[in-house]
Amino acid sequence: MKRILGWGNLATEYPVPEPARQYLENVVGKPRNLQNISVNQLIDKVPAASNLPSHPLISTEPEDRLRHARGQSLNDWIDMCDGLVDTFPDGVAYPKSDAEVQALIQFAETHQLNLIPYGGGSSVAGHLTPPGDGQHTISVDLTRMNQLMNLNEENLEATFGSGVSGPQLESYLEKHGYIFGHFPQSWEYSTLGGWVVTRSVGQQSYHYGRIEPLFVTGHMETPSGSIDPLRVPKSAAGPDLRHIILGSEARLGILTNATVRIRKLPEEELFYSAFFPNFEIGTEAVRKIAQAELPLSMVRLSDPLETETTFQLSGEEKLVNIAKKGLSLFGQNEERCMLIYGLTGNQAQNRLADRQLAHIVRSHQGMMVKYYLGEAWMKKRFLTPYLRNTLWDLGYALDTLETALPWDKLNHARETILDVIRKGLVKENEIVLVFSHISHVYTNGASLYITYLYRRAQDPHQTLDWWHKLKTPASHKIAELGGTITHQHGIGIDLKPFLPTEKGALGTHMIKNIIKDVDPNQVMNRGKLVDLD
Ligand SMILES: Cc1cc2nc3c(=O)[nH]c(=O)nc-3n(C[C@H](O)[C@H](O)[C@H](O)COP(=O)(O)OP(=O)(O)OC[C@H]3O[C@@H](n4cnc5c(N)ncnc54)[C@H](O)[C@@H]3O)c2cc1C
Repeated sequence: MKRILGWGNLATEYPVPEPARQYLENVVGKPRNLQNISVNQLIDKVPAASNLPSHPLISTEPEDRLRHARGQSLNDWIDMCDGLVDTFPDGVAYPKSDAEVQALIQFAETHQLNLIPYGGGSSVAGHLTPPGDGQHTISVDLTRMNQLMNLNEENLEATFGSGVSGPQLESYLEKHGYIFGHFPQSWEYSTLGGWVVTRSVGQQSYHYGRIEPLFVTGHMETPSGSIDPLRVPKSAAGPDLRHIILGSEARLGILTNATVRIRKLPEEELFYSAFFPNFEIGTEAVRKIAQAELPLSMVRLSDPLETETTFQLSGEEKLVNIAKKGLSLFGQNEERCMLIYGLTGNQAQNRLADRQLAHIVRSHQGMMVKYYLGEAWMKKRFLTPYLRNTLWDLGYALDTLETALPWDKLNHARETILDVIRKGLVKENEIVLVFSHISHVYTNGASLYITYLYRRAQDPHQTLDWWHKLKTPASHKIAELGGTITHQHGIGIDLKPFLPTEKGALGTHMIKNIIKDVDPNQVMNRGKLVDLD
């Protein structure tokens, strides 16, 4: 069963290994003694849904409403796990068909409700928070629209209900010998509809692609009718309607199904690692790898602190010590950076790509490590987010930021952004552990994924205040340096102030007008992405 407090399912745990606990105490400080709130205490906080017009599809059960009250941003965590949550959906609907979705939109129009579609609830940008503007909010949970509706083997396309989760989608395809290959780290719970409207990126996007090129078409129910882009391989007929659906963050309507490109299951998928003596050299090697356009599936370069923290959190103390000794014999010391890379395809292709990559690695003072690390990363990739639960329980808050920049700006930007976060709580006498990795590479640049961790305060309002003191200046710095404010998580509420900087005045005006045109009475996810005048 899915957790209400924290990430993932209740049965899965990722304990923080004892040496890692010690490491965090040494680096960030001893955690405070904190009391965590219980689910029952939270359920008691859910107010009666007074004056909500009744509808056969809408449940007003307090637990349903609590489960749909927030997503997974750190603000959401503090709201839920520290009990600050004060806005809840007034009801939750579980439609099973386009007609039921249409009926809910009509109901919202009639009664001036706000609808928030809910996929997997894995948003990390505040997409799911009810606005608390005095009008009723209904969460529209799409997870019952999760069927494989059509498999077209001739076109290598499949159509699914938009509420299909990552594991459900891949298991449908695997039975027929196909793969979609979209693996965000939230794969276990996020859904196809959520991926499309937030423009998500899977870990192996280098081979399988971001969601945009995979999204062929879909059916979106809106307050003004439906949007159904033509199912064709490519078109030059003016602006692409798919790109209006992609990234729309539920401001236009509800995507009920999506047709996506699929592939035959690959002969093999391999994951290996390599090390570089420092991040600058590693980045240069990764740029060369990206520009050589090798047929890899992923390239992920951790900075020295992320490399060390990964070692510490692995729980493999003996192995790590042996690895460190071995690496230092080859000049890979404290500044060493770990590269994890993936190969997807047939044996011959993979061998060739691997040889070409090894050549670039070695010509950049790098060392190939084919044993254990790549495979271990792959096996734990959906387990790692569970660490956030145990870190939280220990007394540490963890959050991430992401951007993408051209290669010529990347290293300077990374150092500057990390510095802002590192110094963000100096006045509060708190230490922030901050590290980063390059996660998705392109010939002209790469995305940067930044993780930061700090001690929770005794007062949750202070934990929240500290989060603002870290996230806001770092986001301003990203915008000032010319990076995108989000490479993959979307805007939601958290990044809304930064959209106009990225899109410009006219661009923002155009986005607002599309929303006003399609949803004139603002029944769709009010207050997210952009404020309408
Ligand atoms: C541990 C963790 C790891 C993550 N890793 C990644 C990653 O590797 N890559 C990445 O890109 N993101 C990642 N994310 C962010 C998140 O998983 C993505 O933004 C994902 O696309 C959200 O999908 P969802 O189904 O959970 O959507 P939700 O969180 O339920 O909703 C997100 C937004 O989409 C809207 N929405 C959902 N379904 C529909 C629909 N059918 N029609 C219209 N609107 C809809 C919602 O109203 C909301 O505005 C991660 C999040 C977590 C918690």
